[in-house]
Amino acid sequence: MKIVFLGAPGSGKGTQAQRLVADFSMVQISTGDLLREAVAAGTELGRRAKQAMDAGELVSDEIVLGMIRDRLQKPDVDGGFILDGFPRNLSQAHSLESMLAELGKRLDAAVLLDVDFDILMKRLTGRRTCSKTGKLLNVYFSPQAELDACGAAGGELIQRADDNEETIGNRLDVYRQQTEPLIAYFEQAGLLRTVAGAGDMDAVYARIKGVLGL
Ligand code: AMP
Repeated sequence: MKIVFLGAPGSGKGTQAQRLVADFSMVQISTGDLLREAVAAGTELGRRAKQAMDAGELVSDEIVLGMIRDRLQKPDVDGGFILDGFPRNLSQAHSLESMLAELGKRLDAAVLLDVDFDILMKRLTGRRTCSKTGKLLNVYFSPQAELDACGAAGGELIQRADDNEETIGNRLDVYRQQTEPLIAYFEQAGLLRTVAGAGDMDAVYARIKGVLGL
């Protein structure tokens, strides 16, 4: 299956994509992860992206589209993919449409994880990644045993540089202004599947599988 995950920062796109990847033969393509890797590796692309990321703004379409074009040409996407955090504006959505047409591929669905804005803040400020396992956790919501397991495995709970209150506010504004119009875009294309993204992670995952017929 070829899917786009839509939703505000903190709506659970990354977490739910990781679960689909674990259960089905799909790959997760997260532009945020690819950009953070480039920043950590200190590449030219990473240096160009860092300022926008630190401010919670979108990185230029040119950078992001180049990364996506390369990624979609790797053979592992043939089993299906989840685009997580891309497209982020209408111009990226149009470019994706032509890129997929050139590659002879078509999207099966755009899944919108719908979460109220007041819940998003807590999810984002509490979010941590285990440095050892890469597992996404939350200091407010994850079971203590899962948080402790990271330390026991020799890892540390890392907070993303852009998960601070000031940057979060900006990222949510950017989402409202630039990304939300994609809901109507995918609805018109007949691809939109809306899932209530609040509450228990297992329940949300079951709803996602339900709308995808998995
Ligand atoms: P994310 O991990 O998806 O929340 O992305 C983190 C940051 O990376 C965003 O705040 C943007 O600065 C940048 N970013 C990720 N995906 C995109 C995209 N598709 N277009 C532009 N910027 C992006």
